[in-house]
Amino acid sequence: MTADYKVAILGAGFAGLCMALRLKARGETSFVVLEKANEVGGTWRENTYPGCGCDIPSHLYSYSFEPNPDWPEVYSAQPDILAYIKGVAEKHGLYNHLRFNSEVVGATWDETAGLWRIRTVDGGTVTAEAFVTAWGQLNRPKLPPIPGRDSFAGPAFHSAHWDASVDLAGKRVVVTGNGASAIQFVPEVAKVAGQLTLFQRSPNWIVPRMSRPYTPDERANFRAAPQSMQAIRDEIFEMAEARLAAKRAGTLPVEEVPIPLAHLHAQVADLDLRAKLTPDYEVGCKRVLISNDFYPALTRPNVELVVETIDHMTPQGVVDATGRLHEADVVIYATGFETKSFAGETAITGIAGQTLATAWANGPEAYLGISVAGFPNLFMLYGPNTNLGHNSIIYMIEAQVDYVLQALALGAPISVKAEVMADYNARLQDDLAVTPWAGSCTSWYKTPDGKILNNWPGTARAYAEAVAKFDAGAYEVTKLTQPAE
Ligand code: NAP
Repeated sequence: MTADYKVAILGAGFAGLCMALRLKARGETSFVVLEKANEVGGTWRENTYPGCGCDIPSHLYSYSFEPNPDWPEVYSAQPDILAYIKGVAEKHGLYNHLRFNSEVVGATWDETAGLWRIRTVDGGTVTAEAFVTAWGQLNRPKLPPIPGRDSFAGPAFHSAHWDASVDLAGKRVVVTGNGASAIQFVPEVAKVAGQLTLFQRSPNWIVPRMSRPYTPDERANFRAAPQSMQAIRDEIFEMAEARLAAKRAGTLPVEEVPIPLAHLHAQVADLDLRAKLTPDYEVGCKRVLISNDFYPALTRPNVELVVETIDHMTPQGVVDATGRLHEADVVIYATGFETKSFAGETAITGIAGQTLATAWANGPEAYLGISVAGFPNLFMLYGPNTNLGHNSIIYMIEAQVDYVLQALALGAPISVKAEVMADYNARLQDDLAVTPWAGSCTSWYKTPDGKILNNWPGTARAYAEAVAKFDAGAYEVTKLTQPAE
């Protein structure tokens, strides 16, 4: 049986589109991108909260092969990033390969035909010789398990499902969570809300956001001399790599963290507020955040930072552990994402009926974050242990795509050897044990018992080097079974 496509790609975010772009650049036309939504963009389509932007500079947080002379500033905002992604997809004719409103609900390896049968939410099936998943790590919003949450009478939504129809002007707004998403929208909401109450479970280390608009002259120069963009990209990349080295060097004691502490002290004079905002764990254990306007927002008269835990919710608002009711018209959950399953609810079945859920019973793992033993020609982009805390994920994705292209060039169904994958992950966890993420904090990078599932332990360059050359010896060709008589 011939498959419908050589390659089926799940997801039209940065990673899925990168795979599609690279296939197209090679002259490949037999591929499809299955996307649950009705537009490209992934996380940059989903997150529309006020102030949303990227904390990696844009000349690095973009495809290396599609530099953009028109980035408006050093760190760009969500609308500019989304426009960039759509523009690249249009420029390369990718919309012809996109199938929208086609959430993948499951995929099964057909051992006789040697292809993937991929089921979409509308009941359809797509067959493909290879299945590339690009489902992202941050797209399953997590709501906090607060007793009485559903009893709240007013509008309530997650930061990744921002409800722009709710007018926050003059309202009493309660926000739970103070991670990378919250610190971007809290200053914006504080400007218009009557009262903003922010519930913080643990503070973050925050450093200044060194952004500025690019001048018209600079942008003209980028257009005229594209190599100047590459030079900026290289410089940002090297600075980011050096930051990782600095973090790894220290599980530094709190007194030795001059930049974030100076930032806090410069922006918050009130000693009580400062104390509440000072972390008691190592810099870099959670993602270090960047912001110039979060601390000042907390010093506004209409903003209160609450560090008591939330006890329960009522129709009127949020009750903290001291029994105090914080009345609210609107509640916003900035409580992050379910980041540990990687595949979400998507049911993936490989050789001999083994499911990915079973294979990952002790936590998701893969070889190089890309391949899983027993799942032939299944390739993951931004899979287990490929997230970074210090550099651009686009760089990682491009390295993975190049690796997958080499694997596809073999033209046979292949599966990583189980022992290779096991050795790789044992070494990986040893390396992760001495990183800052293993420190004394909670984060979305690790499970409650401390196993780090999301992050790569080294530099981005070290990862690119590890995947630069497809290592055929780590794989075996998958035998097909004979059709039943
Ligand atoms: P997050 O970093 O996981 O933060 C979630 C926040 O909610 C934390 O403050 C957490 O407290 C709190 N929380 C979670 N469950 C809770 C509960 N049951 N009760 C009370 N508090 C609870 O999520 P995020 O802010 O959405 O960011 C996730 C990631 O997305 C970032 O690390 C980053 O990689 C990416 N992101 C990037 C940008 C950017 O580029 N600027 C912007 C947004 C997001 P604890 O800290 O105590 O756990």
